[in-house]
Amino acid sequence: MNILILNVGSSSIKYSVFKNTEELFSKKIEKAHLKKEKYSFYLQTLKNIKKELDLKNIEINRIGHRIVHGGDIRKTCEITSLIYKHIKKYAALAPLHQYNELMVVRICSKLFSKTKQYAVFDTCFYYDMPKLAKMYGLPYPLFEQGIKRYGFHGISHKYIASLTKGKVISCHLGNGCSVTAIKNKKAIDTSMGFTPLEGLMMGTRAGNFDASVIFHLHKDKKMSFKKIKDMLNKESGLLGISEKSNDFRDLVYSKNKKSQLAVNLFSYGVSKYIGAYISVLEGVDQIIFTGGIGQNSAEAREKILENFSYLGIKLDKAKNRRNSKIISSKDSKVQVLCIPANEKLVMAKEVFSVKN
Ligand code: ADP
Repeated sequence: MNILILNVGSSSIKYSVFKNTEELFSKKIEKAHLKKEKYSFYLQTLKNIKKELDLKNIEINRIGHRIVHGGDIRKTCEITSLIYKHIKKYAALAPLHQYNELMVVRICSKLFSKTKQYAVFDTCFYYDMPKLAKMYGLPYPLFEQGIKRYGFHGISHKYIASLTKGKVISCHLGNGCSVTAIKNKKAIDTSMGFTPLEGLMMGTRAGNFDASVIFHLHKDKKMSFKKIKDMLNKESGLLGISEKSNDFRDLVYSKNKKSQLAVNLFSYGVSKYIGAYISVLEGVDQIIFTGGIGQNSAEAREKILENFSYLGIKLDKAKNRRNSKIISSKDSKVQVLCIPANEKLVMAKEVFSVKN
């Protein structure tokens, strides 16, 4: 079975082709390379992928799409018209990604009209998370109506979980950032919530803050809800604090005070979650860093873990600088690892194993 895996970002498409669960090749196309509108960019990219597959004589049997918000869907499933409508219903809760993902599903149904498409949801990994971790301190009927923590980056954290056992804290730090507490391969708690806006401060997303700020900005500063939403999703986080860039690389080596503040606040936030999840897990065996920042930035990992020497967590500085797989020192009480994200493998395995 040949499987095309698509991971649609806000300004890129990552695609991979698998023969069953074995990767044949993977590529990433950045929108910057094609100066087009979003729809034209996706259409052109998918047409190019199809041409490439035809030239390589690869007939695709299944297409797997990464879909951020699946609500209460429990596992990977075929995108029927019913599932498409369900995904559309949740798109407003993951606005940076889900409308683009749906656009690509529609394009694929035209270009690959005979091929079944499947949705692999970031939320599924958290389906069985304990109720205490899913609930907010809001009136109970809201929980029953679905106002709760769904969790995201589940595909990435599931890959990390598959490589580990015991008590694990997985830190996915990329443009989007989340921390997940994992016990024996199962999610126990996670930092993102009802939407991917909660939790850590990210590239452009605010993460946690007092919800009253929204009412204050709306009422006293006369900001519209649309403006506030855009600010929280697109103008906050590393970009909002540094007033310079959402790209960690631009900030971490900069001497500019606000850039340093952004890096420090970001690292402080990750430390706080790690501390909380050590309590939730009643200890920790492994702390794992993944995602663009997590797997590449020795500076970030060092800052994040500097508060934990009291627990005997020690980095091997040379290994950390080299982004080695194991970056803790031999006498560290907790193993610290640096593992490249591999969402595509999890997705291919899921799509391959669907029974229809
Ligand atoms: P996405 O969440 O969109 O998949 P990535 O996982 O690729 O994004 O992460 C992007 C982030 O990783 C950016 O902030 C980028 O600056 C950061 N990053 C990538 N490489 C490095 C590096 N060598 N050092 C520090 N940060 C890096």
